[in-house]
Amino acid sequence: MKVLKFGGSSISTAQRIQKIIAIVEDEQRTEDIRAIICSAFGGVTDKLIAISQLASTGNQNYKKQYSEFLKRHRDIFLFLVDVKQKESGENIVSDMLNELGEILHGVFMIKEITPRTQDFILSFGERLSCFIITKALCAKGIAAEYLDSRRLIKTDDTFGKAKVDFAKSYVNIQRYFTKHKTLQIVTGFIASTEKNVTTTLGRSGSDYTASIIGAAINASLIEIWTDVDGVMTCDPNRVRKAFPLTQLSYHEAMEMSHFGARVIHPTTMQPAMTRNIPIKIKNSFNRDFAGTIINSGIDSQKFMVKGISSISNIALIRVQGSGMVGVTGISGRLFSALAGHNINIILITQASSEHSICFVVDPESVDMAKKVIERTFELEIQAQWIDEIDVEKGLSIVAVVGENMRNTPGISSRVFQALGKNGINVVAIAQGSSERNISVVIRKSDEAKALNALHDVFFLSDTKSVNLFIAGVGLIGSTLLKQIESHSEYLRKVHALDINVVSLADIGKVLFNPRGISLGNWENQMKESRTKMETAKYFRQINQANLSNSIFIDCTASDEITMNYYKLLDASISIVTPNKKASSGPLAYYKKIKDTATKRGVKFIYEANVGAGLPVISTLNDLIISGDRIYKIEAILSGSLSYIFNTFNGIKSFSSVVREAKEKGYTEPDPREDLSGTDVARKLLILAREAGYDLELSDIVVENLIPESCRSINTIDRFFIELEKYDSQFDQKYKEAVNQNKVLRYIASLKDGKTEVKLEMVDIEHPFYFMSGSDNIISYTTERYIDRPLVIKGPGAGAEVTAAGVFADIIRIASYLT
Ligand code: ADP
Ligand code: ASP
Ligand code: MG
Repeated sequence: MKVLKFGGSSISTAQRIQKIIAIVEDEQRTEDIRAIICSAFGGVTDKLIAISQLASTGNQNYKKQYSEFLKRHRDIFLFLVDVKQKESGENIVSDMLNELGEILHGVFMIKEITPRTQDFILSFGERLSCFIITKALCAKGIAAEYLDSRRLIKTDDTFGKAKVDFAKSYVNIQRYFTKHKTLQIVTGFIASTEKNVTTTLGRSGSDYTASIIGAAINASLIEIWTDVDGVMTCDPNRVRKAFPLTQLSYHEAMEMSHFGARVIHPTTMQPAMTRNIPIKIKNSFNRDFAGTIINSGIDSQKFMVKGISSISNIALIRVQGSGMVGVTGISGRLFSALAGHNINIILITQASSEHSICFVVDPESVDMAKKVIERTFELEIQAQWIDEIDVEKGLSIVAVVGENMRNTPGISSRVFQALGKNGINVVAIAQGSSERNISVVIRKSDEAKALNALHDVFFLSDTKSVNLFIAGVGLIGSTLLKQIESHSEYLRKVHALDINVVSLADIGKVLFNPRGISLGNWENQMKESRTKMETAKYFRQINQANLSNSIFIDCTASDEITMNYYKLLDASISIVTPNKKASSGPLAYYKKIKDTATKRGVKFIYEANVGAGLPVISTLNDLIISGDRIYKIEAILSGSLSYIFNTFNGIKSFSSVVREAKEKGYTEPDPREDLSGTDVARKLLILAREAGYDLELSDIVVENLIPESCRSINTIDRFFIELEKYDSQFDQKYKEAVNQNKVLRYIASLKDGKTEVKLEMVDIEHPFYFMSGSDNIISYTTERYIDRPLVIKGPGAGAEVTAAGVFADIIRIASYLT
């Protein structure tokens, strides 16, 4: 024998009610259903609160909203009933609605609403819905009787959240159900006092009603039908990857709902648990799905953590002072004073020094709580034994819940690691002595990020996800997107890494979708995007998205973007970039962003700055981290200059080789940008800084390969004509090298703290002697690699390899993230 409960979400329209009638019909074939508890129609309680509040301010507009309310109920009634039920029910529905209208008018006239009147007004929601559903069931040929729970469930007079008198209520219910064998359609949420004054059991209280009825009649099962597939690992509206659990213990369900999982009301478990009646959560929109069972059994899924829930918008009150240390009875006085004013305390933490007590209340109670404490400890505050009461608002609690957390070491460290790596500051911590729950108080703005980060850690520990914000969709950016698109399936399957591109930005437009942009047709989406690129707004949006495991990828050459690195890192967002501006810019800013990254525990990496996709910087870092000492770095770091000197062989003139390099696309449009050596100097500066030298670009001695007279020429054609005048000089250098069995190489070097970029002659013993095409080469001479240096060689330019370098950095960060 079981009882069913349908929440407002399952009965929000006439069509939805038809669906639940079909469920009842089917279930009745195999089961004995004794009672169906229903909420008000979806959204009705909120509406009644809004209308009555409006009326209480003397605002005429309440009438319009009341008319809509009336019409909604009438329409649903008329849609669902046949002629016979209409005849017997229409007057009752009208009477209820008229009575409600009169009460609202009264509130409007006296401009006041007491909690008692509010409860009475709210009772119309459940009374109307249950009466209408009873008539609808009868119209379908299902025998059903309407039951107003105020007749049976007795409470005290704490309006808004009344306390149930179980002894009386159980007797009433049992007596009633012994006499009435027909299916009962029972109003959820409402009850009454000894003197028959209407009360309510607290928002979402219909779940509680179902449990009270189920326990009183000793049902074998209490089924709660809602709009999700069961109790999920997290609120599905906050965490996209939340999934339904098959089983929860009563205590786990209590903790989850106490800390905000709205799917079931926290008090629901109590009556069911005392009689060991299982509660099943089912989805009325997906009725074949098994749902979640809440019982005293054992979880077959064996999750250590079962769920993560949160309460937004709470306030923390801190009572502290030197006079509290060692004084007995302070907490007792504090909490009994608060209890005396019906202030609900969600969480308490006390430092072992006894110097301070922190506790959390909901925002509606905070002002009252402060007053109560100030009054209770008036003398102590005057004597400065207790400081001014400190109130912090705009906070949230996130709770990690699970029966198996007990005696499992390491859970809290995983919680704090996940929060720390995402830059989430923890304001207070509490762990229930049952060890079923770890709760942390954080800023409200971090709540969604914390939920997602923790969910990833505990439920998808095998799957990591990163959220990417990509600026610049030119050649490198778009190549990167292609690589991500073609490789993401592999990363998901083989490396359990989920790459989510949240934003794409270019000079003109921005695309933004926290759920992820589909990369198949990003170009079109970008064209259609109406969001203009406004740098400040764009960075604000990234910050506000506040997503866990965020990485910003700068594929632009923009200074303005670089100037925002600091803010991003400070907000715990890692950065990957092929843009050299920051890593080779002014030392002070470079240090500031590096320090910020370290402080925030995030990464600022730029492997593609030197040697494109070649592992140049990461190798250098690996050497240093593992305790090696760098003696010397030598490198050919420009693909174009590499090509020029590998090709310049005494047959063709120097100027014609440069021309050829330009035609083949190896140089910048103006080859002088390469020949000046500045770009190489920047790359050397980056390596030197990585090796621990605090240098500025101006500290690097650079041999500029552009002859003086060629430097100020306006056009490229005329530059080449001028350059021809120097061909013999270059020939001369070449011959000089050949005479010594050497070749010319444009080499960047760091030795004994000296950094130089210059044209050198190297012999056959030197690792740079044999070079081809536009390859880069880097050699590290270190304490370990002393006789023969460690050499990295390969293509050091081109969109494919550069994007690959950026991609590798992204994966590197992902493997570090939780
Ligand atoms: P009903 O109207 O059936 O009482 P509610 O709206 O009260 O339904 O509760 C269901 C909602 O609870 C879901 O739609 C979901 O948004 C929210 N919710 C919050 N946390 C959870 C969770 N951990 N599991 C499932 N649902 C949750
Ligand atoms: N109708 C009430 C509310 O919205 C009770 C419930 O739905 O459970 O709070
Ligand atoms: Mg509910």
